[in-house]
Amino acid sequence: MEKEKDVPIVGFVPTAPYVIRSGKYKDAAVEIMMFNNYRFLKFLYLEMNKDPVASKNRLHQHLEWLLRQGENRKTQVICPQCHQKKIRYFSARGSKRFGYSLSLIFASCDKPGCLKKLESLSGGAKIEIYPFRFSSIAKFRNKTDQRSVAELLRNAFDLPARLTAETAFRFFKE
Ligand SMILES: [Zn+2]
Repeated sequence: MEKEKDVPIVGFVPTAPYVIRSGKYKDAAVEIMMFNNYRFLKFLYLEMNKDPVASKNRLHQHLEWLLRQGENRKTQVICPQCHQKKIRYFSARGSKRFGYSLSLIFASCDKPGCLKKLESLSGGAKIEIYPFRFSSIAKFRNKTDQRSVAELLRNAFDLPARLTAETAFRFFKE
């Protein structure tokens, strides 16, 4: 019997940014919060998931879509190590206590040689390596570090410094 072709599961796809209507984050678009409050969105989403029988409301569906999109965006910057492929990973040097320094200079594509180069660039200092995904923001405890990661992502994805909800939405949707 011929195997059926894999059909991607087409879920909910929004047509506009989602703006929170009330509470502490009133008037904030979740697309912007991906950059400045990722950990809260993730927390909110996990809370919503706790009740598996409840039907998903608009925000729940929207967050599910958005968090997924945050994991598969394409970077626009060429690997500074080999100048061939697009960057996939960044290195963080520093510590939880004193904070991390991050730069696109210390980014790399997925080639083992390039990743190895990041280590030699650190001059023996310990580095941590993360993918250019929004979930990487949540790997950092410190607010300042979270902001640095978000800015690094913004630059890696070649987004303007002043993001509007609409621009951010289009970026996550493309
Ligand atoms: Zn490379």
